[in-house]
This record gives sequence, structure tokens and C-alpha cells, in this order.
Amino acid sequence: MSLTKTCDDCFETKPLTDFYPHARNLDGRRGKCKVCMIARAKARYEKNRPAILVQAKDRYLEQRQARIEKMREYRATRKTSKQQGVPHASEPLA
Ligand SMILES: [Zn+2]
Repeated sequence: MSLTKTCDDCFETKPLTDFYPHARNLDGRRGKCKVCMIARAKARYEKNRPAILVQAKDRYLEQRQARIEKMREYRATRKTSKQQGVPHASEPLA
């Protein structure tokens, strides 16, 4: 098995470690090198930035109530330091 691969995008031959893993490809690596993948992801983000930010905000707001509930549950089950017998910083040490 070859330890190098030619990128589908920039056509440079690079070591396999310069390609992200991809289980479904025969050689187990992506067709485009990491540099090209990162450049594509950046370009895609720049192009779709407003939509991506709206999606992220929607997701944040959707999950907000669930996060609050979870935190309430956690706080209710958690013992305070006083219940654990740990003296508060303001209390003199015996
Ligand atoms: Zn490339």
C-alpha cells in the first residue's frame, strides 16, 4: 500500500497523514488533502456565514430551556459545602 496520495483538488502528492481519515474510501483517507479541506470549509463558512449564525442561534435558543432544567436538576441533587461539613471561608478554623 502506498504511503502517499495525490490530492483531488490541488493535485499535489502528499503523505497519507496529510489526508483526513474516511472509512468508506478504499485507502481509508479523504480524496482532498487537509489544506484543501480546511480552505473549502473556510470558503463555505464565509459564503454562508449569515445562515450558519442564524442556525447556531436557533439551536442555542431551542436547547436553552433543556439546559436550564438540567442545571436545576443538578443543583437540587448536589450537596452544598455546608451539608458536606466543609467550613465556609468566613468561619474561624476550630
Ligand atoms: Zn490539496
